[in-house]
Amino acid sequence: MKIYNSLTKQVEEFKPNEEGKVAMYTCGPTVYHFAHIGNLRSYIMEDVLEKTFRYAGYDVKRVMNITDVGHLSSDADTGEDKMLKGAKRENKTVMEVAKFYTDAFFSDCAKLNIKTPDVVEPATNCIDEFIHMIEVLLEKGYAYKAGENVYFDTSKLKEYYVFGNQNEEELMVGVRDDVSEDENKRNKNDFVLWFTKSKFEDQALKWDSPWGVGYPGWHIECSCISMKHLGEYMDVHCGGIDNMFPHHTNEIAQTESYTGHKWCNYWFHVHHLVEKKDGGKASKMSKSSGEFLTVSLLEEKGYDPIVYRMFCLQSHYRKPLTFSYEALDQADGTYKKLKKRISAVNAEGEVAAETVKEWHDKFVAEVGNDMNTSMGITLVYDVLKADMNGATKLAVIEDYDKVLCLNLVGGQSENTDNAGDELTEYVESMIAKRAEAKKAKDFATADAIREELLGKGIVIKDTREGTTWERA
Ligand SMILES: [Zn+2]
Repeated sequence: MKIYNSLTKQVEEFKPNEEGKVAMYTCGPTVYHFAHIGNLRSYIMEDVLEKTFRYAGYDVKRVMNITDVGHLSSDADTGEDKMLKGAKRENKTVMEVAKFYTDAFFSDCAKLNIKTPDVVEPATNCIDEFIHMIEVLLEKGYAYKAGENVYFDTSKLKEYYVFGNQNEEELMVGVRDDVSEDENKRNKNDFVLWFTKSKFEDQALKWDSPWGVGYPGWHIECSCISMKHLGEYMDVHCGGIDNMFPHHTNEIAQTESYTGHKWCNYWFHVHHLVEKKDGGKASKMSKSSGEFLTVSLLEEKGYDPIVYRMFCLQSHYRKPLTFSYEALDQADGTYKKLKKRISAVNAEGEVAAETVKEWHDKFVAEVGNDMNTSMGITLVYDVLKADMNGATKLAVIEDYDKVLCLNLVGGQSENTDNAGDELTEYVESMIAKRAEAKKAKDFATADAIREELLGKGIVIKDTREGTTWERA
């Protein structure tokens, strides 16, 4: 297989550290709100990468963190704590918010046929590991204490900007104008490893540490969680392109200073989903820009979530992808026609195993060439046109769908993961509470519950058969 490596800026032949095995890490979501479809583009393409490795015969172990502490609204350690912001908005504890949106995230993933990674670890599970790593960084002279926080000293590194091409303007991405510079930092890009002197008096989650009661910075979690489960050498680290700086740059700085050697060989970055604004200029899609596009919103508008997966697979992950409903409609039309052509194939004859293998290898060569997913879809059309019997055609397409996961053959999604159950349980308990309130003529409470659910994108309807609900 070949893969573009952000470290070397070229497409390289993939060579794992250990023959036949791939150690893979993905930066997980910060669980303070629903994921928007721009974030989910990254998770779809990373899912395809993992499945292509497996399809090509590799034994893959994939690890993902869940950020439930320490991520401030700017990636550069300024602003408000995202989790606390979510908790305030919903009048919930931070852990309740984390649980709710973790479940919602995996429920969205299941709808998009994204496999759950082999290991999923919330940051709050690993505080001892974070503290240990920070202690070592202090001992080795890569970190310092200032203003009761602990910082990483970027001036101690020979090369900090490992991904290159950094300029002042890029460094300011995500840094809000109204946030003042942290005066404790010795160098502009030093970052917090442990917060003790918090700007946030009401910080909900705090732990004892050798430096006082506090909480970890955001970047430390990926370094620790990946090493905990994959060891000190990793093959592929993935994330969205906006994670490259400062997040991934800081992950590398910490990890390699800690271990004293190179950490990860290949960095896989998925580019942005963008939307066209009125002026015709495309800009990165985010939670705060325009319509908050979620999987549930697409469903509400009548789209099968798999169509969004198809839409993503039709373009290359290293190019920005422009979202519009017209473009999604086009993908929808293409998808329906393709499904129809496949369902019209007569499953006659016997499966020719050799032919299946031949087409399997063709797929590995094409899609395995830096994730040429649109070529993977083209191959499905080639199979339909090819000179082989119906049974073999269906066998090849079924084989391709192990990677594409577009439910091409047969009916429903194969994903039986029960991530949505927790959400269902929660909504139903709220509906029961609301029914009690209504019974007691406490309409204020009943309305408040409806509002609260609405705030989480859950719409409830009172019908003659009782109260029903759906995700908005
Ligand atoms: Zn990360």
